[in-house]
Amino acid sequence: MGMKITRPQGTEDVTPKQIYKWHTVERMVRETAESFGFHETRIPTFESTDLFLRSVGETTDVVQKEMYTVKAKETEFTLRPEGTSGTIRSMLQNGMLNDALPQKVYYILSCFRHERPQAGRLREFHQFGVEMAGSTGPVSDAEIISLAKAILDRAGLKNIVLHINSIGCPTCRAAYHQALRAYFAPHQETLCETCQTRLEKNPMRILDCKSPVCGEIAKDAPLILDYLCEECKEHFEKLQSYLTAMGIEFTINPKIVRGLDYYTKTVFEFITTDIGAQGTVCGGGRYDGLIAQMGGKPTPAMGFAMGLERLLLTMERQGCEFEQPKTCDLYIAPMEERAIPLTMKLGQMLRISGYQVEYDLMSRGIKAQMKYANKIGASFVLVLGETELENGTANLKNMQTGEQTEIALDDTFEEKFDDIAIQGMFHDIVNDFEKECKQ
Ligand code: ATP
Ligand code: MG
Repeated sequence: MGMKITRPQGTEDVTPKQIYKWHTVERMVRETAESFGFHETRIPTFESTDLFLRSVGETTDVVQKEMYTVKAKETEFTLRPEGTSGTIRSMLQNGMLNDALPQKVYYILSCFRHERPQAGRLREFHQFGVEMAGSTGPVSDAEIISLAKAILDRAGLKNIVLHINSIGCPTCRAAYHQALRAYFAPHQETLCETCQTRLEKNPMRILDCKSPVCGEIAKDAPLILDYLCEECKEHFEKLQSYLTAMGIEFTINPKIVRGLDYYTKTVFEFITTDIGAQGTVCGGGRYDGLIAQMGGKPTPAMGFAMGLERLLLTMERQGCEFEQPKTCDLYIAPMEERAIPLTMKLGQMLRISGYQVEYDLMSRGIKAQMKYANKIGASFVLVLGETELENGTANLKNMQTGEQTEIALDDTFEEKFDDIAIQGMFHDIVNDFEKECKQ
């Protein structure tokens, strides 16, 4: 009895005190995506489990270890571990690929993965992601990467390096898989259990294994870049020249394979060392085979996902700026019961005009009200007391300067806010109010 319930491991609360940072980040990613002509899409939080088996891939960590699968009334669902699968499913289901191409969408959503909770690794986390379907050429790869870069720049981040790689297409992949199998075969016994099955089914996955033992074995594994076909090679080289043309610095990292099976050709990550071991803030790439694999007509596509918790943490660590939350413009302090109706009416009118207005809801004395107004950071306090009501005046205090003005309630008190739109409003309100009182 009375035991407090706490939030599940690996989840986070965002309190009203912290939310402005999220609002800053959300506004920033939205505006940047819109400036590139991407539009927001929304998808369900859960999908049929089969969707993720087919798209993310059966030999990935996400599917093998991390999915939250629930059975509800005999039907099985999985909470989305990422946003691409659902977004592509939605594009297909809504016939979006029959419209003008490329289709360019973005999303901000929560993802669920049953991971071992640690710094930078949550069980519920948030992603901002973009997907672009319909374009094959390396120009769109550069476009997608520059969109991610634009966000990081706009956030004011430094020391984030861009790693790029190409993991080829099914043509080059076949020869590479053979080379990997030959390389790992002598180590079969020492690989982790998961990787032993991967060896046969999908040896490239071993390169993404988080186990230190597998990591050590994989150190000298053959590199995909040595196995690229002509087309993939040219694609990768053009991408590099476009990035260079835009002044976007990058490092070629032949070890990046990404954690999801659907990638082809270009893959990339933006990595920081400022937030500990889990420093990949953004990861993405091209996935030319996915749409056909999901039952659509073959359509090339590309995208990325940014971990918003990691982005925010990096911004905090680097002392980036966040937009300050809006605070109370006016606190109205009625000193007695008789002043309450006028207080409420003033509040109502000013709120409609777009001001943030608060007044006493706790039946507090004037001293306590002033203390509260101070605490919530009110810019002005309007005191309505007995004498004031009788004289048709009120006391307006500028909380920043401490300056107090006796203002007539038929005065254009709102001039203090530099707002012509509500000129004369007080006058009208007070007039109405007096009429009502006399009746
Ligand atoms: P990792 O190698 O770190 O496990 P991943 O390959 O699983 O990453 P993606 O599936 O590509 O990551 O997800 C894109 C981004 O989402 C990551 O780069 C990261 O910023 C963020 N992310 C992924 N998993 C988590 C998590 N469990 N907690 C917080 N952020 C995450
Ligand atoms: Mg992962």
